[in-house]
Order: sequence, then structure tokens, then C-alpha cells
Amino acid sequence: MRVRMAPSPTGPLHIGTARTSLYNYLTARHAGGTYVLRIEDTDAARGSVEFERDIIDNLHWLGISWDEGPQVAGGEDVGPFAPYRQSARMELYASEADRLLDAGAAYRCWCTPEELEAVRREQEAARQPPRYDRRCLNLTDTDRAALEAAGRPSVIRFKVEPETIRFDDLVRGEVEFDNALLGDFVIVRNDGLPLYHFAVVVDDEAMEISDVIRGEDHLSNTPKHIALIRALGYREPRFGHIPLILNADRTKMSKRKSQMAMSAYREEGYLPEALVNFLAFLGWSPGTEEEIFTLDELAARFEIGKVHHGGAVFDKDRLDHLNGVYIRALTEEQLALRLREWIPEAVGDDDLLRMVPLIKERLVRLADVDALIGFAWEPDAVVAAWYGPQLLAPKKGSLADARRALERARATLAELDDADFSADVLEQRCREAADRAGMKAGDFFSPIRVAVTGRIISPPLFASLELLGRERSLARIDDALGKLREAAA
Ligand code: GLU
Repeated sequence: MRVRMAPSPTGPLHIGTARTSLYNYLTARHAGGTYVLRIEDTDAARGSVEFERDIIDNLHWLGISWDEGPQVAGGEDVGPFAPYRQSARMELYASEADRLLDAGAAYRCWCTPEELEAVRREQEAARQPPRYDRRCLNLTDTDRAALEAAGRPSVIRFKVEPETIRFDDLVRGEVEFDNALLGDFVIVRNDGLPLYHFAVVVDDEAMEISDVIRGEDHLSNTPKHIALIRALGYREPRFGHIPLILNADRTKMSKRKSQMAMSAYREEGYLPEALVNFLAFLGWSPGTEEEIFTLDELAARFEIGKVHHGGAVFDKDRLDHLNGVYIRALTEEQLALRLREWIPEAVGDDDLLRMVPLIKERLVRLADVDALIGFAWEPDAVVAAWYGPQLLAPKKGSLADARRALERARATLAELDDADFSADVLEQRCREAADRAGMKAGDFFSPIRVAVTGRIISPPLFASLELLGRERSLARIDDALGKLREAAA
């Protein structure tokens, strides 16, 4: 089995292409086959090496690898069928186009855009389906020679025979198309560049691709490809079209939207293993309740024939859920390592490791770390600027209650030396202080929480105090008391 992924580097890697790549990867690994990456870069105007880099880097980041093709953007091709980029394969397309011309299966067309437009309008007026009227197929040899001599640019059109095309789709089962509706489509532009339908067919044959697995948006292209394959005398690969990805409201997800770019998910701190799992389930399921799989486990279980026909709804909540599950499955050291790039360099590795247990249970995306525990590295003045005095008041209490709690808390904390400044001791002492003050523990703790973390919701309070240490905790309580005094004045 030989499968391929054939991205056009005209945009960053998006969710749909990543899933197609994953399904190809899993199919190849499941069968012990070969996975080919081919760069379809014939659209020089829209394509770029930056997009190629984005695609390749993000695939690597997901853990998807391939056996043939460039391993890095713009890099050297690996494999027996090199080159693997279409821009370097032009001679092959030209000679295959010549074969079609010689066999009468394709013909040159000199029609101008204006002429084509006029035909289209006539057909529309007559309520006929729009398709090329074969004007240039029916030219006499003299006409043709005259046009050639005049040096008018020409495209090459494939002569579509009216026939019913049937194929057994790996995902959808038997599919049938009437090619009589297609019209003779262009396979080579007037500047000599091959168009997608043609290049893809030529390359799949040359690279001995046995299974073409791609998005359902290509389903309607497949009868064109099969007609070309037959005319060129190629072997017909198996085709499998995987379902569209839908928004929660079941509308089609658009490629253009930035929410589709893989890099955006990476920047928000989704783990690659969570994304892989999520993508695998966008259109497939193992038929059990299990939800956590490594890439290897997916490869063992995945079968392209079990992919669903219906659209796959993109459920962001599920992705968040999965990401949390993967985060919690990491050891503290592993999580610290993953978090490193979201934490200022000034925070030492040991300090980072001390923060991890405080946030591990709540973290949904790695980028959330800043909102959760940024108070630990932000200067006191920055944290103080996050809240106003009103936030210090306990839920049903007053600013005076906040002040009472903070004054007592300050005295309690000040009594402890650094060695005793641990979560357990702090909790015990603060509970006693709350009792003595005649306040409910929650009402007593709430102003302390806001004072030291700047927020009403935070990681566990006493562990947060321990993390900050005695001096900084006291300084922040002083800042809060200062705000309360100011508010009272
Ligand atoms: N270059 C095409 C695309 O990006 C490949 C489609 C195919 O797999 O045939 O959509």
C-alpha cells in the first residue's frame, strides 16, 4: 500500500488537511505501507515556502511523519520517486499531455475568455448546463494551422467521453457519476502549467499510489480523474473520501477562517497528542467507549473503511476536555517542561516545578497558565493593579470586614518565620485566626486571596501563599490594606 498527502502550500496547515494527513498516516502505518508527501506547488502566485514550512512543521509537531518526500520545508527530497514537488516535474506533465494529444484524447483550444463567456451566457439563456461547446475540437486542420501560425495562446482540453463512472469508495461505498455532464475540462493552461486534475493523476501513477485518501470536497473531482486515468492507460487507485468538518451548527467549516489554522491551536497550548486524538475522532471512532489513544494505538485500530459518511462536527468542548485529560496524565516534570515556553524566563525551573501542582487540576490549555498563576511572577504593583478595593470585600461582607480579616491575617502571617511558612501551617493558623475574629473561614480567606493573587478565583490559597513566600505575601496584604484605607478616606 502506498498513500500520499498532497498539500498545496497556499495557506497554513489547517484542521482539515491535518486530519487528512493523519488518516493517510494511520492507513499507511496500519497496513505497513508507505506514506508519501508531495508538494503541489504549481500555483506559484498563491503558494510560498512559508506556508510549506507551516504545513511541514505543524505535521511534525503533531507527530505525523512520512517515508518519502521533503522532510523539511524546501528541503531535499527523500525517496525513489523524487522529485516530490510538482514544480520540478513539469517535463513529465508535458510529455503526458502530448500523449493525450497524439491519441486524440485531448485537444488544443484557442477560445478567448470572452468567447467562452458568450457561450456560457447562451447556454444559461437556453437553460442548458454550462460546458465547453467543443468549438475547437471541431476546427479543420487549416483553421488550426492558422491559429498556431498566428501564435495565439492555447490551452489543452481533455475530451470527456460520455460514460457513467463507477467506483467503490473506501469510505462511501459505490459511487456513480455521469461524465456526460462534465464538459471538456482544461488540463494545461496557456502558459504550459498543468492544472490540478491532470498533475495529480500523473503523479499518483508515477509515484505508484495505491490508495487516494482525501477530503470529500474532492469527491466530484474523482470522475474526472478516473476518466483521465483511463485515457492515459494508468492503473486505477482505490479512492476514499473522508467527510467534511462541520461547525457546531452543522454548517460547512471554511478553510479561510483562522480558527482552522493548526498554529492557532498550538499557540493556545493544545497538546499535540490531544489534537491527534481529537482529529482521529473527527469522522471515525473505534466503536468502544475508550477515548485516549497514542498515535501507535490509533494506527493499530484505525481502518479507513470504518470512517463515517456523514459530516464530522467540530466540538471545541471535546477538544478542551481531551486537552485537560492529557495534561493531567503528564507527570509534574513533564508538564513543567511543556509549560516552559509560556512562562517568563526569569522564573527558574525549580520555581516552575513548584507551581505545577497548584494548577495541574485546572489547566485546560497551556496558555491559560498566565491567567491562573501569573500572580506568582508578576511584581506586587502589577498584581495590585488587577483589582479594586470592592473586590476585597467577602461575598456578603463589607470593606470593614475585609480590613478586619486582612489585619488579622497580616499579624498571623508575620508571626511565622520562613521555615513555618508552609501551606499546612498557614491554613491551620488562618483558621484559628478566623475563629478568633468570629468570621466564617470563607469570608476570612476571600480578602487574603484577592490581596495575594489579585483575583477572586485562584489556585489553592495556602499553597499560593507558600509559593509567594512570607515577604511577598505580607507586602501584598499591605498593598490591599492601603487600598482599603484609601477607599475609606
Ligand atoms: N493539492 C490538493 C489539495 O490541496 C490535493 C488533493 C488530493 O489529495 O488529490 O487539495
